[in-house]
Order: sequence, then structure tokens, then C-alpha cells
Amino acid sequence: MTDNSKLQCSFCGVEQSPETPLISGNDGYICSACVELAHQVVNSWGQSAKRADLAETLRVPKEIKEHLDQYVIGQDGAKEILAVAVYNHYQRLINMGQNESLHDVEQAVELEKSNVLMAGPSGTGKTLLVKSLARVIGVPFVVADATTLTQAGYVGDDVDTILRRLVDAADGDVQRAQWGIVYVDEVDKLANKGAGATATRDVSGEGVQQALLKMVEGNEVKVPKSGRRHEGGEEVIDTTNILFIVGGAFPGLEELVRKRLKPEKAGIGFQAAFVEDPEHSHDQLLAALQPDDLQGFGLIPEFIGRFPVITFLHELDADALVRVLKEPRNSLVKQYTQLFAYQGVELNFTEEALSRIAELACTRGTGARGLRSIMESVLRRTMYEMPSNPQIKKAVVDREQVDDASELIVREIFGDGEENENRVEEELATQAEQKGAQS
Ligand code: ADP
Repeated sequence: MTDNSKLQCSFCGVEQSPETPLISGNDGYICSACVELAHQVVNSWGQSAKRADLAETLRVPKEIKEHLDQYVIGQDGAKEILAVAVYNHYQRLINMGQNESLHDVEQAVELEKSNVLMAGPSGTGKTLLVKSLARVIGVPFVVADATTLTQAGYVGDDVDTILRRLVDAADGDVQRAQWGIVYVDEVDKLANKGAGATATRDVSGEGVQQALLKMVEGNEVKVPKSGRRHEGGEEVIDTTNILFIVGGAFPGLEELVRKRLKPEKAGIGFQAAFVEDPEHSHDQLLAALQPDDLQGFGLIPEFIGRFPVITFLHELDADALVRVLKEPRNSLVKQYTQLFAYQGVELNFTEEALSRIAELACTRGTGARGLRSIMESVLRRTMYEMPSNPQIKKAVVDREQVDDASELIVREIFGDGEENENRVEEELATQAEQKGAQS
């Protein structure tokens, strides 16, 4: 018999006691267990609502690629492969948990996720591609650098911090984070090449691969709550549905493929090393890339096995770099033109000047990454003068023949038609040479 004088939870009927405090409402009471349950129920509503949102916004691979085209120049193969991988991944998520009856659940085919590995030189757009993908799908996204990761217990970021950052990118919404995309850059540097490396303390080699592997496979990971909220404690993040994309330059990868394709050519003697293989172009070699080749590179088989989709990005030549300067939605030319326009100055670039900037970036060997610093150097003088000289109405970046060499110049045109020329080429060329000599 219940004592009528005692308060009860209006949901489960449990009586109030020192161990079971009740929260009172206008007409009833609720215990902490029911609060917890209600929270779970509401969360599941949230999940279905999020699935419905995602289903509404998810675009087909062709549209995803068209979106990527607005931001990333070239790399068509990689774009298509990524668009399909991402589309399938989110299809799987949207349709998961849709089976109403127990029978359906039993019959359902469980789809495994297809994490992606991207190989390609630095500055070819790997990070940009993944960032643009996350934007088009509308899911949280983080980039991590494999070289800064260490095994748990060592000084440095451990693998769990990636998840912490993913939750932060989802504004603290753990459910959204669990559908996010994680990009881990420079995984090729994790590989401990040669037998010698295994003898030393393996702070960032196989141990990190194992830790990453666990996370990629799908695991419940406890991460400390964000310091921002000062609550302390931990949150559990299930990584089963997080899409992992890893990238790296994998220098020398073509050679590994070439060796596999042409083992019989391995001759003996001094001449052997110089046998050129005209039958396989750079692209054909990369297209023939197989997961086993990466193993030759030092990645553990279990890790490679978790990345069934492999794609590669091409080095950008000078023509592609000119397009990178001009075409993307937020290209450097558009950004600087906007910056100058804010100050009432019209900025123009001649085609010759853009080609020269691209050539200089090529000599630096950092792909499109080098373009911004070159632009910055070219426009530095003008950007310094411009704010204190309202007379400047227009600036033209051009290339001019001086003696037997051509030089980049910035022509500042004043309101009264006068002109001033800033010569910038010499300084840039020296910078480029120094960088080239270093690498
Ligand atoms: P990676 O990750 O391959 O080293 P990033 O994606 O970080 O290279 O590229 C560095 C910068 O260079 C990007 O922010 C972008 O501005 C530019 N960039 C690189 N590749 C491309 C490309 N294919 N199209 C447009 N911009 C590019």
C-alpha cells in the first residue's frame, strides 16, 4: 500500500525518498530516471528529424560534383569518387533505423561505410575538397594532422582530441558530430619505413595507426567535455557513422606501382637503374594503384583495409594554377579585387601577370599553396600606400618587358591620370630561388 502523504513520480509512480528526489511541476512530479528516459525519447525524435533534414538536403553525386567544381579546379576523378562515397555514406545513414518491425531489422542488409584514402602532392586541393564536401552536405567537419598525433599517454594530441574538436564543430551537438566527416592529413608520415624504425620508440608510428584504426572501425570513445562549458565530465561519442577521409602525399608511390607492374624489368648492373618505362604515364600508374602498394609504403594492412576507396590528385601545372587564381568562387583574384574595392580602388590583373605568378608558384613546388604568399608580396607595396593615398583609383598587375627579361609590375593609376609603377619581380624571384634551393 502506498502512503498517500508521500509524493510520487507522475510518470513511473516511484515514491520520493532521499535517494529519489522529485522535480515538481504545476500538476505533478518527475524523478531523475524519467527525466533521463524522456531525454532519450526526445533525442530519438531529434535523430529522425535530422535524418529527414539530411534526406531533404542530400544531393545526388552529379550535383555534389558540380558544387565541388565551384571551389576546386581539376581533380575530376577524385571529385567523382568522393561524391559517390559521400552520397552512399549518407544514404546509408538516412535509411538506417527506418525498419519498423523486428522482422525488417532481421532481414536488413548491414551496409559498411566506405572511408576514403586520397593520395596526392601537397597543395593540390585535398583539404579543400573535403572541406567543400562537408559544406555541401551540411555536416560538421574537422581536419587533423597525423604528424601531430601521438599514442595516448605521450605528450601531444592523442586521437581522441579529434573527436573533441568534431563535437565543438557541431556546436556541442554530439548527435550531429556522430554524422560528421574527419579528415586526417599526412597519414603517409605515420608509416614507419624500413625495419630500423621499429626498433626505436614508436611515438607516432604504428601505435597511432592502431589508435586511429580503432576510431575508424567504429567505437565508443569517451572524450572530455569541452572546457568552454566548464562542466567537466565526459561524453561518449560513437564513431560508427563518422566518415573518415585520410590523405597524404605518398612520395614515391608511382615508383612502387611501377615496380609491381614491371617486376621483370629489374635488371642487374649500373644500367638497370636508368631503364625508363615509357609504357606507363604518371596517371596510368596512379590509376593502377592498389591498397597493397600502400602497404609497401609502411601502413599496416588493417589500417589500409579500412579505406576501401582510394583516389589520387594530380599535381597542378602552371595552366591549372592560373585557373586556381581566377576561377574558384573565392579565388585569390576575387578576394583581392574585393579587398581593393572596399577601399575604392579597382584592381585588375593582366593574363600575362597571372601566368607569371603561376610560373613562380610552380618553381616553389608547393602547388596552389604558394599562390597566396606570392600575391601578398606582389601587392604589398600598393596595399601599404593605398590607405594613405586616396588619389589611387586603380591598380593593374602587369608584366612588362625590361631589357631582355620580363618583370611583374603593379601600375598605380591616380585620379588625375598620373601613374606610379611598383616593380616587384626581383624580390619574388629571389624568394622562389631560395625556396627551390631548400627543397
Ligand atoms: P592539400 O591538402 O592537397 O595539401 P589544400 O587543399 O590545403 O592542399 O590546398 C591549399 C590551398 O591551395 C587551398 O586553400 C586552395 O586555396 C588552393 N588549392 C589547392 N588545390 C586547389 C584546386 N585544385 N583548386 C582550387 N584551389 C586549390
